[in-house]
Amino acid sequence: MKLFVRELTDNRCSFVVDDTRPDIVNLLRRTMVTEVPKMAIDEVEFHMGPIRDEDGNEYDSNSALFDEMISHRLGLVPIPTDIEHFTFREKCECNGAGCPHCTIIYVLNKKGPCTVYSGDLQPLGDMSLKVKEELIPLVKLKEKQALLIYATAVMGNGKAHAKWQPVTVCGYMNYPKVKINNDVQVDDPQKIVAILPKGVLDHQKGAFVLKDIAPLEKKDASFYDSQIPAIDGKKPVEIGYEENKFVFSFETDGSVKAKDALKFALNILSERFEELREQLSGIDEA
Ligand SMILES: [Zn+2]
Repeated sequence: MKLFVRELTDNRCSFVVDDTRPDIVNLLRRTMVTEVPKMAIDEVEFHMGPIRDEDGNEYDSNSALFDEMISHRLGLVPIPTDIEHFTFREKCECNGAGCPHCTIIYVLNKKGPCTVYSGDLQPLGDMSLKVKEELIPLVKLKEKQALLIYATAVMGNGKAHAKWQPVTVCGYMNYPKVKINNDVQVDDPQKIVAILPKGVLDHQKGAFVLKDIAPLEKKDASFYDSQIPAIDGKKPVEIGYEENKFVFSFETDGSVKAKDALKFALNILSERFEELREQLSGIDEA
């Protein structure tokens, strides 16, 4: 399996995988979606009863939404996660009691009238854990309404709940393939060149030439193929798909860097296959 990265930003990655099979690429996709972990808010404690500000004004701990709905929205807020640093509570050396390696506590203290945003969540301690996407609206507070919330974020993965799934829009398609049949006589070759995305095909010295296939990546190759007319039953240019080469792309919700998500998924696959290999060697020895 060979991997060529085409695009890599903090939240987005696209790469070409060559010399592989559809089941292997699908395994990578499933691992990316279900196994790559992130921190997400899992427990929310609402202050009940009146809330007072510094001037002694009293507010109701209340809002237009049920507490359950606010909790659900809090669960979906992308929490910045360094997957090298954080670990699952059940695997943590604190034995699940909660420590800076497995738990983040946020406080949200807002008084109406206002809109409460994800950026109002204040981490206890390390300010680098402040939510990066600050403008996700959570709830509106009216006059005399207030919220005082303690929210606990822990590590999880997509197998348990979608809120722990940092990888989104994850998918792949077969790599395009262009076959040129220069024995087919074409009246207006530039018309054929113009059908394909710019830069793919050229017509020089009476023959079609493939210049660069990259503009066809992530495009619907069968659509372009359907646009090319056949002459006496044969097409001058045929667009199809490679069987063992794919374009893979995914995004993250901003909690985990795209590069870290990919590395994590590849490592986990490698560990699992290594375990399998060790167990199989045990069968030989038995
Ligand atoms: Zn811990």
